[in-house]
Amino acid sequence: MLNLDLAIIGSGPYGISLAAHAQETGLDYKLFGYPMDFWQNKMPPEMFIRTKLNFLGLSDPHDRFTLEAYQQEKHLNINYPTSRSLWIDYAFWFAEKNKITFTKELVTDLREVNGGFYFESETGRSVCAKKVVVAIGLAHSEYIPENLAHLSEKLVSHTSGYTQYGTFRGKRVIVLGGGQSGWEAAALLHQSGAHAELVYRGPSRKPPIPNINARQRELADKFYFLPSDEQEALRKELLQATVTDFLVTLVEGKVPQRPNTQIVKARPTSSGTLKITFHHGETVEVDHIITATGYRVSLNNIPFLKTIASRIDIESNGFPKVDPCFQSSVKGLYFVGPLSSYHHGPSFTQIAGVWHTAKTVIPSIQESNC
Ligand SMILES: Cc1cc2nc3c(=O)[nH]c(=O)nc-3n(C[C@H](O)[C@H](O)[C@H](O)COP(=O)(O)OP(=O)(O)OC[C@H]3O[C@@H](n4cnc5c(N)ncnc54)[C@H](O)[C@@H]3O)c2cc1C
Repeated sequence: MLNLDLAIIGSGPYGISLAAHAQETGLDYKLFGYPMDFWQNKMPPEMFIRTKLNFLGLSDPHDRFTLEAYQQEKHLNINYPTSRSLWIDYAFWFAEKNKITFTKELVTDLREVNGGFYFESETGRSVCAKKVVVAIGLAHSEYIPENLAHLSEKLVSHTSGYTQYGTFRGKRVIVLGGGQSGWEAAALLHQSGAHAELVYRGPSRKPPIPNINARQRELADKFYFLPSDEQEALRKELLQATVTDFLVTLVEGKVPQRPNTQIVKARPTSSGTLKITFHHGETVEVDHIITATGYRVSLNNIPFLKTIASRIDIESNGFPKVDPCFQSSVKGLYFVGPLSSYHHGPSFTQIAGVWHTAKTVIPSIQESNC
């Protein structure tokens, strides 16, 4: 049995930043999960990252291992937009510099025991931890609209999980959704030789919000304490489905678009295709729909939280209630990253929230001061 002060569940940007801060404190901790798994294995790493270079990085206690420091050490000249694979390389360099070791195991069935927590990992390892931080990003939150969710994975899938689209070469594919991941899937399908078409509800592409990275970084520190009407207005503004400029030339003139359009029905045909009916009555036949319809957090959908979920206060929209230090209603259990983004704000759906998170959660755990 492993006995820890702290178990960090999730080895993405949030988990790695928390580990860098925990490393300095002398806390006996372990970082669970597959390192940078979402970025390496759930999205195409050769696509670009949309965060501007000045705001791209992970958090360590003295802000030493920045993207700038990585660039200098590796003699690189990083330009915007930069590829996700470079971001992944940076994250592993950052982990090495901070002497972080990964425990590459998924956690199953988290429970409360004797004022702390107990869980097993997928390898059968038993762990007791005084405190637990859940940093699993958007895992188990993929959203497929109800009228498509019943169809087989062969016919309908979500953008999450695709690292490339080669299997769709020569196929007719509808990409549903007019945000960044829809445009990105459309571009990559086109490059892979698929006959893609982009279908979305709005009238046109929404360009990025000016200075979005700077605003998100700044808001991370104060969103929690804003009046609720201001919070709601910011969620509405900053969580809009926008599309970065670098995708425009990869899609426009290459992938046909159907704006102002909704799918009302999709029916499998006897030949293994899908017959789709749009809201204005037109029908088309395609081989596959890729839904780029985003993510909806629901704590109850996360398998390893099944036992403990009934003890956690959960908002009606599925997010856990968390305090200013990211602690849930179960003392010692913290939620960070996208799972904290309802209370802490849109910055935490992005890398922008890692600095505030690491600098808040680790002192709170160390000093029990929240
Ligand atoms: C297509 C797309 C593009 C994006 N581009 C950007 C961008 O350009 N800039 C930006 O700031 N944000 C971007 N994001 C948002 C991005 O998801 C977050 O910035 C970031 O990945 C969140 O980090 P995280 O550490 O919370 O989780 P993740 O990076 O998702 O990592 C989750 C970790 O949890 C682990 N895990 C899951 N289940 C378990 C379990 N049961 N036990 C143990 N470990 C587990 C995984 O193995 C993984 O290590 C993008 C999102 C998408 C979908």
